[in-house]
Amino acid sequence: MSKSKIMIVEDESIIAEDLADSLKTMGYAVVDIVSSGEEAILMAAEKQPNLILMDVMLQGKMDGITAAEQIQSSLQIPIIFLTAYTDNKTLQRVKATNPFGYIVKPFEERNLHLTIEIALQRHHYDPITLLPNRSLFISRLNEILSHKNQASLGDLCKINKPHKYQNFPKIPIFYISLDRINRIKVTLGSKNGELVLCNIAKRLKESISCIEILARLEAAEFAMILNSVEQKQDAIDVAQSILDIISQPMVLEGYEVYITASIGITFYPLDDIEVDELLKNANAAMYHAQQKGGNNYQLHKSEAVVISLEQMALETNLRNALKRSEFQVYYQPKVNLRTGKITGAEALIRWHHPEKGLVSPAEFIPLAEETGLIISIGEWVLRTACNQTKIWQEAGFFPFQIAVNLSRRQFIQRNLEERIIKIIQEVDLKPNNLELEITESLVMQNEKAASKIIKSWQEFGIKISIDDFGTGYSSLSYLREFPFDVIKIDKSFIRNITADSKTEAITIAIIQMAHSLNLRVVAEGVETQAELDFLRKHKCDEMQGYLFSGPLPKSKFEQLLKEGKKLV
Ligand code: C2E
Ligand code: CA
Ligand code: CA
Repeated sequence: MSKSKIMIVEDESIIAEDLADSLKTMGYAVVDIVSSGEEAILMAAEKQPNLILMDVMLQGKMDGITAAEQIQSSLQIPIIFLTAYTDNKTLQRVKATNPFGYIVKPFEERNLHLTIEIALQRHHYDPITLLPNRSLFISRLNEILSHKNQASLGDLCKINKPHKYQNFPKIPIFYISLDRINRIKVTLGSKNGELVLCNIAKRLKESISCIEILARLEAAEFAMILNSVEQKQDAIDVAQSILDIISQPMVLEGYEVYITASIGITFYPLDDIEVDELLKNANAAMYHAQQKGGNNYQLHKSEAVVISLEQMALETNLRNALKRSEFQVYYQPKVNLRTGKITGAEALIRWHHPEKGLVSPAEFIPLAEETGLIISIGEWVLRTACNQTKIWQEAGFFPFQIAVNLSRRQFIQRNLEERIIKIIQEVDLKPNNLELEITESLVMQNEKAASKIIKSWQEFGIKISIDDFGTGYSSLSYLREFPFDVIKIDKSFIRNITADSKTEAITIAIIQMAHSLNLRVVAEGVETQAELDFLRKHKCDEMQGYLFSGPLPKSKFEQLLKEGKKLV
């Protein structure tokens, strides 16, 4: 490691020379001795010492304290004050500058040495480039973020929905690595390698004006925090100019040397709010840039952010889908296995997305749940399906049972039972023509509320069916406790009954148990004749599945009703 460079600001030349001698014997390099505050400011910028020893009382207009304040406003150089006397007022002014040390003249060499070492340690700047080092960078980043991380922003971030604060100012964090620096070290020696680092550091500091802090982390790696930007593009522009600045040729030992860099960019708080994570993100993005051959920048892309951006787009579309009439209810027939006749239908929502085409409910129902949109979408399905049922009934297809799915969020909604009853009354459908499909786990997770809701529906006459039976808790005892009407055996059982004797036995047991409890049994997802034969043989009541028909738009479904299509 090279010697730490110290500048002396002292107007009594004998003391200054004495000091310089002591410092040299201690192993430091004295880069300059100046005698006024004005000179100190100029030379500190030019010589960039690692430390300044500053006399408090100086000749001229400016005293040491004022000079120190000015130096520290633009340079991060630790300053130790020297003074011959200590009146309280001076001491207080000194303290206000937050100095790295304070030495009373005449000083003891041992004390001086220790004070300097502590100051350098505390600051611990990178001795080669004189840039802040990693620990200083991290503490500065912490400082900046804690400052920005006021309660409101912090709380928002913790919700972990990056897209919610797209419009907040973003703080760009850059990780810059010089490409193939080892080649220079090997061919031109490590001294020249150090020169490159210093040169690049100098260029960056001089040409990029929006730097909050630039640090050398290790080897040929730098990190940088920029002032906050409104748009990512602003940071991208800076990255591009950094690449340009770095790639300007440099002359070393008569050779023209070309350096390039790989830059990784991450944004606080978009990508993360933790210091460690931000640095990791930026590093990963830098690595990505290296993989691409160097001399380029890459933005940090977390999977979460990519997904959330996609979700955000989907969410926006989903919000508009109802008003734009992009939803449609499809009807899948349920068929009585004894008579072969259609007994009713399950209403299944379809979304015709303007660009994506048909989007599966499995894809958007969870998002609708998360955003609460399921409440209005669910009510729309219910109203539409009940209305349609009423129309078909009036056209002579009677009795006709309509089944509508209810999801978790809907189920825990306040006044759900009243809201649903109100819709049925408005449509003027007989309550016992409506079946609400809920899952086992939904009931189990909200047992108390479920019990109340289910009872009030039952009193009103609405039927309840347990959807996807066998996939949830499979606790059979609650089948006795709740007044359910229907069990729908999940399609995963149906799929296996003809292949697996265990599944066969379970399915038979479910049907028998349900019957013993006076429950109707519907098999869902019936696709083959063998499955149908099995279900008939074991006295399953109804079936639903592609074998008879998939879900259909209302006009196609109406055709089936008119044809009087039967299961043979
Ligand atoms: P689910 O309630 O289990 O609905 C049955 C699913 O099985 C439907 O998928 C249906 O199209 C499909 N299906 C019908 N017959 C067969 C068959 O023979 N074989 C196979 N493999 N599949 C069959 P879909 O329409 O994609 O709906 C998926 C899920 O989305 C539904 O599962 C339901 O949980 C939910 N969902 C659909 N519409 C609504 C709605 O209006 N509200 C709520 N809350 N959820 C809905
Ligand atoms: Ca269902
Ligand atoms: Ca189901």
